[in-house]
Amino acid sequence: MVPGTDECLVFYFPLGYNVEKLKERTMSENVLYNSTRGGVTGLTASRAILTGLAPDGGLFVPDHFPKFDKTIDDFRSMDYRELAYHVMKLFFTDFTEEELRACINAAYSDNFDEEEIVPLAETGRMTFLELYHGPTIAFKDMALQILPHLMTTAAKKNGVENDIVILTATSGDTGKAALAGFADVPGTGIIVFYPQGGVSYFQERQMVTQRGDNTHVVAIDGNFDDAQTGVKKLFGDKELAESLNEKGIQFSSANSINIGRLVPQIVYYVWGYTRMLNGEEIKPGETVDVCVPTGNFGNILAAFYAKQLGLPIGKLICASNTNKVLFDFFGSGEYDKNREFTLTISPSMDILVSSNLERLIYYISGNDATKTAEFMKELQTSGKYTITPEMKERLSDFRAGYATEADTLKAIHDIYEGYDYLIDTHTAVAAHVAGEYLKNNDGRRVLVASTASPYKFARSVVHAVKGDEVPLTVSKTSPEEEWKLIEEVNSLSGRDIPQAVMDVKDAPTRHSTTCAVADMKDTVISLLS
Ligand SMILES: *Cc1c(COP(=O)(O)O)cnc(C)c1O
Repeated sequence: MVPGTDECLVFYFPLGYNVEKLKERTMSENVLYNSTRGGVTGLTASRAILTGLAPDGGLFVPDHFPKFDKTIDDFRSMDYRELAYHVMKLFFTDFTEEELRACINAAYSDNFDEEEIVPLAETGRMTFLELYHGPTIAFKDMALQILPHLMTTAAKKNGVENDIVILTATSGDTGKAALAGFADVPGTGIIVFYPQGGVSYFQERQMVTQRGDNTHVVAIDGNFDDAQTGVKKLFGDKELAESLNEKGIQFSSANSINIGRLVPQIVYYVWGYTRMLNGEEIKPGETVDVCVPTGNFGNILAAFYAKQLGLPIGKLICASNTNKVLFDFFGSGEYDKNREFTLTISPSMDILVSSNLERLIYYISGNDATKTAEFMKELQTSGKYTITPEMKERLSDFRAGYATEADTLKAIHDIYEGYDYLIDTHTAVAAHVAGEYLKNNDGRRVLVASTASPYKFARSVVHAVKGDEVPLTVSKTSPEEEWKLIEEVNSLSGRDIPQAVMDVKDAPTRHSTTCAVADMKDTVISLLS
């Protein structure tokens, strides 16, 4: 054993838990799931995954944090799948080893374009964790490639015989990642609605070329809100649910609050830390800080969970773009969504209500579901709430920063000039914030979550490096022009064009259904019959 590696056995007690009671627990003990708002308690992992959002509107949280039953040193020699098993089994305690390994093997294999699944890249004191080598070249694949398998396994375990059909409204990215995850998974289907003319050329092509007989993509004659409202209505339609049930079908959602999306995201922080050790970037036991480009607060919350398990993470740095609700929250203790919403070059972070933050609110309130429910009610009625001073004190592991559009472009430019390494706009928000933070963090290395391939945001990335010769915005684009940008990223980065990009270029259009907002229900019925 390498000196210092027993550090991983240190149990970081989650805030507010009864320490003595936790000590009595054994490794094999079940982790059960409770709603953050108190309405549901004691669900098994598989039921929590199937349920998604708790009926009281809350999010499922584990009733206690498990701890690693292996040392960090043991993890160093494991490949991604093996490591994933040893992390996820701690949370999904009602899955058998065989079930969980089957899910993992189906999710993380040659659908990723790097054998390691998540490679790392080092620049100065930052290490980038490349989470974008899956089929849609963005980090949501890390969770959405495994969620369908967790769901179908969970359905079997709970005697659910119906096929599960995922309904989603998308403004671009999540829809494609969900389609790619559920495509051809037996026992599932997926219908994605997107606003016609409301997604980028690349995003639309990605969706309408999706393979898989169980996938359906529908362009609606309305905006994203219309699509979202329409989908919510379908979820609440009892008559529709009954008639589908007779046909052996039930709806579910692949929302980012599902515990089945959160847990798989813990794995790559353990992976990143152990690969940094293997690459001798850090010494055993050394603490690293983590910086995450944040939208819905899912990815950074997974890093927080990794820290609770015993991973030597120092600070958790939350990076926002100009929609900096979270930055303001960490500074003042007031969460206030009443502000102007701006569209940025890091669109997947353009969010004013970060739904996964509710889980953190629950922890810092001392696992007080009543209090959490009150804050969430305030958020719903007045659009804001303020946490107590005691709660704010418990945020001491967190740091926050934000990047303006100019900061974001400069970060791409500077890292490219300095290290010949190309990052996308989302990663650049985190790189800017991490760069500022590194100026006085006592020399620790920062692990930066790299959430999208530069190929996915080619225009912004090429503009950042080459300047106005490639304008940041254009009123109209063409497939030829988009392709030129892709070739530009290829020559700048020196990395092969990913399959996901080639597919957009060459694959035939497979989905051409369109419908009026009012006809969404009829469209679903006809697609499912
Ligand atoms: C979704 C997304 C994010 C934000 O992640 P959260 O878990 O919602 O905080 C950041 N970058 C990219 C590229 C994304 O797709």
